[in-house]
Amino acid sequence: MRQKIVAGNWKMNKTLEEANILASEIKGMVADEVKGDVKVIFCVPFPYLVPLKNLLGADPRISLAAQNCSEHESGAYTGEVSAAMLKSIGIPYVVLGHSERRQYFGEDGKLLAKKVDVALKHGLLPIFCCGEPLEVRESNGHEALVKKQIEESLYHLDAAGIQKVIIAYEPVWAIGTGKTATSQQAQDMHAVIRRSLAAKYGEAVANEITIQYGGSVNAANAKELFSQPDVDGGLVGGASLKSREFADVIKAM
Ligand code: PEP
Repeated sequence: MRQKIVAGNWKMNKTLEEANILASEIKGMVADEVKGDVKVIFCVPFPYLVPLKNLLGADPRISLAAQNCSEHESGAYTGEVSAAMLKSIGIPYVVLGHSERRQYFGEDGKLLAKKVDVALKHGLLPIFCCGEPLEVRESNGHEALVKKQIEESLYHLDAAGIQKVIIAYEPVWAIGTGKTATSQQAQDMHAVIRRSLAAKYGEAVANEITIQYGGSVNAANAKELFSQPDVDGGLVGGASLKSREFADVIKAM
């Protein structure tokens, strides 16, 4: 059975005080209301990783992710944070290749392959984001582009490596726009990704890999999106910043 995962990407939002309140509220709602084995991950700004780790304690259902890490091991890279540092503070996950990193920080497939490698080397589990911009969807190039993104950055891994990766399909035109993919569009692309994984690594491996959908997921559309057979959860931006709404998204899983 694939792990169901709902992750909240807080991006560059919240003060520490607000972060503490948000995390505490969601933790309480998850404890009181969420049944089943869905895993919840807060993808938070670097300064909040340690305080939130302390606040959350040893809750087996809620984990933390960094939103990025350096492709370098260590050294003279002012302002960067390494995978080894994240591991040393007990963080299990790292988001890599979010479309905002690709768009604003020039991250490309080759660089992301290096980040995936350094993350795995230090025992971090990557949440690897892929997805097409609107013009690519409109010209019907979305399947080819997403396959290329995962091939470029992930397909050098062996079967043991790929099984540690969570894939997040996030059509760029749906991120932060309020314009979500239809559940059929999400399912179709997730099936394309899974077929590609199966062709490279075999059915058994492909069937174990969690593929999340991201792009304007909210409490109103989550149930329909998450009911698709190849949609194993969500990567949620805006709606993860409101405790009641995010808890409702988690419940929809
Ligand atoms: C995201 O940041 O990954 C995201 C999907 O954002 P939103 O849910 O706001 O579209």
